[in-house]
Amino acid sequence: MNSVQSSQTQKDDDAEVLDALIVGGGFNGVYQLHRLRQEGFKVRLFEAGADLGGVWYWNCYPGARVDSHVPIYEFSIEELWRDWNWTERFPAWDELCRYFHYVDKKLDLSRDIRFGTRVSAAEFDEARDQWVIRTTDGTVVRARYFILCTGFASKPYIPNYKGLESFAGESFHTGLWPQEGASFTGKRVGVVGTGASGVQVVQEASKDAAHLTVFQRTPILALPMQQRKLDYPEIFRIRRETFGGFDILRDERSALEVSPEERCALYEKLWQEGGFHYWIGGFADILTNEDANRTMYDFWRDKTRARIKDPALADKLAPMEPPHPFGVKRPSLEQWYYEVFNQDNVSLVDVREMPITEIVPEGVRTADGLVELDMLVLATGFDAATGGLTQIDIRGTGGVTLKEKWTEGARTYLGFATSGFPNMLFLYGPQSPAGFSNGPTSAELQGEWVVDCLKHMRENNKGRIEATAQAEEEWTQFLSAIADMTLFPRADSWYMGANIPGKPRQLLNFPGVPMYMDRCNTAAAKDYEGFVLD
Ligand SMILES: Cc1cc2nc3c(=O)[nH]c(=O)nc-3n(C[C@H](O)[C@H](O)[C@H](O)COP(=O)(O)OP(=O)(O)OC[C@H]3O[C@@H](n4cnc5c(N)ncnc54)[C@H](O)[C@@H]3O)c2cc1C
Repeated sequence: MNSVQSSQTQKDDDAEVLDALIVGGGFNGVYQLHRLRQEGFKVRLFEAGADLGGVWYWNCYPGARVDSHVPIYEFSIEELWRDWNWTERFPAWDELCRYFHYVDKKLDLSRDIRFGTRVSAAEFDEARDQWVIRTTDGTVVRARYFILCTGFASKPYIPNYKGLESFAGESFHTGLWPQEGASFTGKRVGVVGTGASGVQVVQEASKDAAHLTVFQRTPILALPMQQRKLDYPEIFRIRRETFGGFDILRDERSALEVSPEERCALYEKLWQEGGFHYWIGGFADILTNEDANRTMYDFWRDKTRARIKDPALADKLAPMEPPHPFGVKRPSLEQWYYEVFNQDNVSLVDVREMPITEIVPEGVRTADGLVELDMLVLATGFDAATGGLTQIDIRGTGGVTLKEKWTEGARTYLGFATSGFPNMLFLYGPQSPAGFSNGPTSAELQGEWVVDCLKHMRENNKGRIEATAQAEEEWTQFLSAIADMTLFPRADSWYMGANIPGKPRQLLNFPGVPMYMDRCNTAAAKDYEGFVLD
């Protein structure tokens, strides 16, 4: 061993030893810190950002707001909801950040959190059954359990446009928006992308921009928001029992077994309820039967086209034929998105017809010419589900990195663990409900499973838990079989990993919170079947 290595080892040996190191200060990390501390574990949380909130800290662009209504989108801990009142049913990022400050104060979290601390690497010390975890500022800690709550959206995706760095104006990705803010007023603004963030930023920019150009690849099948009164305990009870972890129950009939009048009546009711009701509260076969799905698309299309004055624009934004089945790509919520395109200061560029060829100092060049811009907004999404995990240099047994292991696609057992990486558990990760589930529901349900698992390990004097390769293979096959029974593979969405060039195509989220938790709880009840405990 040379002197550099030996001083490194010395430093690692001296590192603080924790029961668990949690990475990430969003809903999942916060829940883990609170509950593991309650159970007497020695825990710390490292957060790359300067504050709590996770995605709500980073995505502070104008118009950023949650698409899950409250109180569904908050912790169900009574001590917290009793004294907190939201101003809006779909709160914006700044109100969500205030909520996190409130949670921090109530639960006294910050004393065990290090902000501005990015975990860059971790390796498993097989001799001690501990993770040695390093941060970009040179800190090293040891922890028995490495709990990754890095979220599905902590690696923004920036397209590889030729000349992007040459752009002379301001340029921001929505997920890395400047904390001090940025104004659209009087500027020529370009927004690339019409996913959830694109819809939100377009609505705001349309108000103040001198001109707004929206670069659309695929039309978003966005749904209108509406308001409704709140009954907290009942809502929290229902959200544990529904498909997506919301308070919305679906109609268990087929869309094709009812009369057209009855079908339309349900669709109209869901439409008026607003939010995700139209997506989740429909008939049972919407996501599995193409004809059933088409009835839902057609209703959405007719409602939406009625709001767009120019028929040519209506064909782009709400085409007569569906770009993909309804709801297999996440439908964003909107308030005046479609009316934006009736304004004189707004234009739409269809990048399937007119691809972006390069970015130049003056703006964006397409096959049709130059669009001059002062500001370029990249609402281009994230390397979802896996990116936040694989961007950390994580080395398991035998020194294999997680990134290497998942080259052909993510492989997990129960969406919590992967073989070869003992004592490492991830929440809201690939092959768990994550993107198909309301965030806080998942944080609590998955969170309790992890807390119970660590308690089980402690009570049974076990120091090491690892998913078996066989259990992982079966889980991956199981999810793939589920995907084949649905229409999800029919859209190029981040649900399928298809928004990132070269990323393996697979269903990254598990559809159905109750079925998922049933599997997880059954495995736990059978002494953590599918895991090896030592
Ligand atoms: C714009 C946007 C809108 C959304 N809207 C909804 C919605 O309407 N409904 C819904 O249910 N979900 C929504 N989501 C999903 C959202 O991610 C979840 O609801 C929830 O916030 C997940 O919480 P989390 O704790 O898992 O992750 P996050 O909130 O993403 O937090 C992860 C944290 O980990 C930190 N981190 C990552 N890597 C490292 C590292 N290496 N070292 C240190 N820290 C690290 C990040 O800085 C981040 O703060 C939205 C996401 C985005 C981006």
